[in-house]
This record gives sequence, C-alpha cells and structure tokens, in this order.
Amino acid sequence: MTGKTHQIIGQTVGLTTYFALAGSDYNPATFAFAVVVSSVAALLPDIDQSSSSLWQSIPLGRAAGAVVDPFIKHRNLSHSVLGTAIVGAVAYWLTSLMPSYWGVNGHVILWVTLSSYISHLLADMVTVEGIPLLFPYQRMFGLPPRPFQGVRIVTGKWFENWVIFPIVNIALVLIIIIHWDKIRAVLFK
Ligand SMILES: [Zn+2]
Repeated sequence: MTGKTHQIIGQTVGLTTYFALAGSDYNPATFAFAVVVSSVAALLPDIDQSSSSLWQSIPLGRAAGAVVDPFIKHRNLSHSVLGTAIVGAVAYWLTSLMPSYWGVNGHVILWVTLSSYISHLLADMVTVEGIPLLFPYQRMFGLPPRPFQGVRIVTGKWFENWVIFPIVNIALVLIIIIHWDKIRAVLFK
C-alpha cells in the first residue's frame, strides 16, 4: 500500500483504539499524542524504503533514505512479528519514561502505537507481495493465503485508490462524527 493509504488506515485504527481505551476521560494530552503517534506508527514499517512518506517528511530524509536504501531489503524485519515486538518494547519503554505531569495515559498510547503499526502489516498482507511475517524466516505471507493470492491487490493501483482509500476515509469521518462530543470537549473545553 502507499503511504497515504497506510496513514489514513493507521489514523482510523489508532483513533478507534483511543476511544475504546480512553473512554470518556477528558484527556487532551493523550488525544493529541494518539493523533500524532497513530500517523507515525502507520508509516514506521516502511522505514526500510527510501521512497516512503516517513523519509520524505523529515528534513534531509530523502537523502538519508537514499544512502541506506541499497543496503536494506524492502519488507524486512519491520514487516514481521519480531519487528512488531521490538516496536512494542520500545514504545512501552518510551511511554514509561513520560513524566506524569504531561498527563498522558501511557497505556492508551502504547496500544494506539501497536494497533496502528499492526494495521500497516495487515494492509501489506493483502497486497500481491505479502510480508515476511516470521522474519528471519524468508517466506512471504499474505491474505488470502496461497493458492488464492490472485485476488490480492496491487499497491498504488485502482482498487487501493478508488475503493480502499475512500472507504477508510469515510470510516474515519464516521468515527469522528460518532465521537464528536468527546473530541469537541478535548479541543474546545
Ligand atoms: Zn509496508
């Protein structure tokens, strides 16, 4: 999937996780963190591609990505259970370092990070290439599994752009509408 699709899926999944876990607690700091973290975590697995949105969005990222690019195989550790566990451990560590006066609910942010990250892997699993889920074991896994891989989608083509992307956008808008009272309370209280 392309960066824009991963980002909108990650934000939708991340916000859903936030509302499921944070409930109706008035917590602007956690909400702001959830919005930022869900966007970043959704793009993080493609850190192994210099063309990814993550590299493009940081200063000198394009150049840095191009330097490391020849040395890294795409869809690698970052697209596996092992990579997810490492990201989870680092996120757990970082959230535990947050001083309590920030008012951020680290437990919620940890799960927003993980759900958004995993949404990227699932989205890549429904593409033709699949992902090396059990890295370092090199076999690629996808959904639906072989021999039904023929119905998987091609990254950046019409099905992603004209079906998945609009549907997820609508889902995100619906989530915002459903939870508008809580969002308004956080933003305008
Ligand atoms: Zn990816």
